Amino acid sequence: MKAMILEKIGRIEDKPLHMVDLQEPSIKGSELLVKIITCGVCRSNLHLIEGDWLKYGIPPKLPIIPGHEIIGKVESIGEEVKHFREGDRVGIQPLYSSCLNCEYCLSGNEHLCNERQIVGDTENGGYAEYIKINELFAYRVPDNIDDKAAPLFCPGVTAYRAVKMAMPQPNEKIGIFGIGGVGHIAIQIAKLYGVEVIAITRSKLHQELAYKLGAKIGYDGSSLDKAIVFAPSNDAIKMAIKSVKKGGIIVLGVFGSIDEFMFVDEKIIKGSVIGSRKDMKDVLDLASKGLIKIITEEFRLDDANEALKRLKNGLIEGRAVLRI
Ligand SMILES: [Zn+2]
Ligand SMILES: [Zn+2]
Repeated sequence: MKAMILEKIGRIEDKPLHMVDLQEPSIKGSELLVKIITCGVCRSNLHLIEGDWLKYGIPPKLPIIPGHEIIGKVESIGEEVKHFREGDRVGIQPLYSSCLNCEYCLSGNEHLCNERQIVGDTENGGYAEYIKINELFAYRVPDNIDDKAAPLFCPGVTAYRAVKMAMPQPNEKIGIFGIGGVGHIAIQIAKLYGVEVIAITRSKLHQELAYKLGAKIGYDGSSLDKAIVFAPSNDAIKMAIKSVKKGGIIVLGVFGSIDEFMFVDEKIIKGSVIGSRKDMKDVLDLASKGLIKIITEEFRLDDANEALKRLKNGLIEGRAVLRI
């Protein structure tokens, strides 16, 4: 199979991903072999490739095939597969597997499992023609969801969980810091709760996108009830904490550092990372009802370096998607 592989960390301008021909993964037991149709291009792929996250142990090994938001078709199934057949359309989110038996897994938080494996990070990902996955971590894609909606499987579930963690109440003011791949979906999900959404982004392209999706643009200085941060910037985190009312909630969907946290304001800072299998199912239900629109721009697999470079330079409106 063809795959864009990362053998050595490097700046995206130097085209660190290159095309290789590999043996397709072999499957057994409860695994599916999936022929990939589309794979979204995530900012975290860029961080991994450029070595920004080596300090967090990512990637744990090289070489690796990046990419973790996938739609494909089941090509073949292991002898113990119960829920899928050849030809089914399935999606794969970053959560590749978990132990299914620890306190997190047993409480519906398998994305927090200490044994979790991550697609395109600890396991080869979607910048390739094929991937294998245990059927328990594959999701049936409803017929009315387009192949290009692969970003439902990372930004979709990430946005959904982050908004849920903010516990929005009708008529509250919620600030979303950082639009783009995750933020543009978070706006739509937050609006389903009947809140007023304020989009905070310096990018003109993203301001226009947020406006089209019904958000107000720019923080006007009045207090927010909640804030959700997707912009990978300590300044954005600082501003989010400052702009929330006393007792308000700040949800962080990015790495970053927190300084000057005033305990006397009783604000609550929460982290939110991807989402559980149930969250993923909820996202697919919303998308199937037409409540989430994904703005995409398509690239060919061998243009993955170019797609990532455009993402780095802020030139992607919603989400870049590789058509495999
Ligand atoms: Zn992602
Ligand atoms: Zn577990």
